Amino acid sequence: MERRNLNEVAKAIKNAKLVVALTGAGISTESGIPDFRSKNGLWSKFDINEYGYIDNIIKNPEKVWEMLRILIGNLKDARPNPAHIALAEMEKLGYLHAIITQNVDSLHQKAGSKNVIELHGNFREAVCLKCRRIYPIEYALKQSIPRCECGGLLKPNAIFFGEPISKDTLIKSLGYTENCDVMLVIGTSAMVYPAAELPAMAKQNRAIIVEINKEPSMIAGIADHSFYGKAGEILPELVEEIKV
Ligand code: NAD
Repeated sequence: MERRNLNEVAKAIKNAKLVVALTGAGISTESGIPDFRSKNGLWSKFDINEYGYIDNIIKNPEKVWEMLRILIGNLKDARPNPAHIALAEMEKLGYLHAIITQNVDSLHQKAGSKNVIELHGNFREAVCLKCRRIYPIEYALKQSIPRCECGGLLKPNAIFFGEPISKDTLIKSLGYTENCDVMLVIGTSAMVYPAAELPAMAKQNRAIIVEINKEPSMIAGIADHSFYGKAGEILPELVEEIKV
């Protein structure tokens, strides 16, 4: 890693009024949660066309909930890694103002981050497909086919394929994107929309784009600084540079 470039990024962060991080599944792989495209990822074990779409859970809730129980069990045991902890520390120091995450694993919050926008929702809660009432996920896990008190089917409060992103969440994300001076883009292949277009929007508004990923992602071409390696190693070093 180019120490000089890391120092430049630290300087830009210190001079910025608004700093935002956009995170993806790659920030959580060091916590033992496979990312989307890895060999051992969720969709290598369960066919996305049978489990990933909103219609799947409506038509065959028992089958999809079987998969969800495994997934929720894995997430429950996961702990934040040094990358999540570094972002929480940056926020505490006043140098990070929001995290826009595509992740549903709650690891940013477990690390202590306060302003986390969950673009794809979360697995802490279940939501009723009929009346939209929210329950803690544990309520749903007690039933074989989880149902709301109104009789409606429950699903995790996360976006399935074929579902829209909440309007409020999107508006909030766009607000931070349009106004930030620095955007850190961490552990995302930048292939899933609309998250994938946020870095380009931030760049159009003159933000400095910093790519932190294991390998070049779809935003490599527009990044002002790129650091290729483990987020759990790069981000703690960045925090040390900021503290200098
Ligand atoms: P992705 O799987 O498409 O891309 C992850 C990127 O992170 C890859 O480019 C990979 O090279 C990189 N990466 C892997 N390990 C890394 C590390 N230690 N340090 C730095 N980079 C690393 O993920 P995506 O772009 O977030 O899109 C996938 C979709 O799947 C999203 O919607 C996401 O919500 C969802 N998902 C979430 C989780 C989670 O909540 N943890 C896990 C899997 C998938």
